[in-house]
Amino acid sequence: MDAGTIRRSRGRKLTVAEYSKHNFIEKALKQRKFENRFRELHPVHPGDDGSSVKRGEEKLINFCSNDYLGLSQHPRLRDRAQTYLNKYGNGATASRLISGSLDIHHRLEEKIADFIGTESALLFNSGFQANTTLIPTITDRHSLILADKKCHNSLLQGSLLSRADFKRFHHNDTDHLQELLEDAESETYSRVLIITESVFSMDGDRAPLKKISQLADDYQTLFFVDDAHAVGVFGENGRGLASDIPNIDIQLGTCGKAFGVFGAYVGCSSQMKDFLINFCPGFIYTTALPPAVLGSLEASVSLIPKLDEDRKKLHENIQYLKKELHKSGFNTGDSTTQIIPIIIGSEQKALELSRWLEKKGFLASAIRPPTVPKNLSRIRITVTTTHNRDHINQLLEAIKSWKNA
Ligand SMILES: *Cc1c(COP(=O)(O)O)cnc(C)c1O
Repeated sequence: MDAGTIRRSRGRKLTVAEYSKHNFIEKALKQRKFENRFRELHPVHPGDDGSSVKRGEEKLINFCSNDYLGLSQHPRLRDRAQTYLNKYGNGATASRLISGSLDIHHRLEEKIADFIGTESALLFNSGFQANTTLIPTITDRHSLILADKKCHNSLLQGSLLSRADFKRFHHNDTDHLQELLEDAESETYSRVLIITESVFSMDGDRAPLKKISQLADDYQTLFFVDDAHAVGVFGENGRGLASDIPNIDIQLGTCGKAFGVFGAYVGCSSQMKDFLINFCPGFIYTTALPPAVLGSLEASVSLIPKLDEDRKKLHENIQYLKKELHKSGFNTGDSTTQIIPIIIGSEQKALELSRWLEKKGFLASAIRPPTVPKNLSRIRITVTTTHNRDHINQLLEAIKSWKNA
């Protein structure tokens, strides 16, 4: 190597003295801090009531967990996890196609398919992992992917990995989607895939699934719905929003949210399941979910359909919190779900409110760019069945006191 110049930065040659291989890290982190976007991990310890966590000695009511039904602390899940652990051991020992396909994986998949009303279900190790691997499996570089502008990062990553033509339609805008579908008619794509979430993770609004399903049918496209935040909370018996919609080829549910545990599944036809088992790298080349997780999940699927009373209370609390926030002049966007953004604007202000709430005993995280667009920084509140009216009233008091401070 030439001792004088060794690497390039923005077209300029750098000398040995100038170059440091970790320079890019230092620069990126500095920039993040400068923009008030620097992220850090803060350890908490879960309280056994499901509604609170401890940070050091401080008890905080948790208003940002995805544990919508409070199942993360449910005794029935713990018991079943222990039973499976004792009976089946710590690990699945291999991927599903080698020796890791335990009878309890198969039983759980049948149970999940029954619950969501699909012909088949297939387990994955997480929702993120599933999305990044499913999308490239069902498309190729001659395909077109049309995804809602506000889709989760995992759907974006999957779409980019696929090397398909990738376009995003304006959020929840079926006219724009139809325009893009019309344009695609004059191309020779191998296939077209429409992707949306049912409940959007940062705004808590819902997709017009029926209309999109109609378009998927009219234009004979594949249709992928990420139901991560709807399962357990919406639909008959809490089975989510995708189950009532025709023409869906893959509906994804995660087991880390309302299920209270970890993992993910897809609901699909038996033919699609066979295809994924044969061609989906993120299913084929990874160790199967471990027995304890399967035990908890088995208990979750049994419990969720029985929690109608809890869901009713949850929806009442959601309506109440939203109404009170509006009365105090807060903007919650288009939220119609348990995810309630309080849109503040600047990164700085959103952080300020989050810190204020923490001082008052509430955990509610600030969501900033790049997760949400610039000037739409927010506090993202999630309501769960572990919250009672008192928790919500106390939270409202704390938010109002910030506004008036
Ligand atoms: C949380 C989430 C995922 C990822 O699921 P994990 O199981 O947590 O990896 C995928 N899609 C959406 C829309 C999500 O909100």
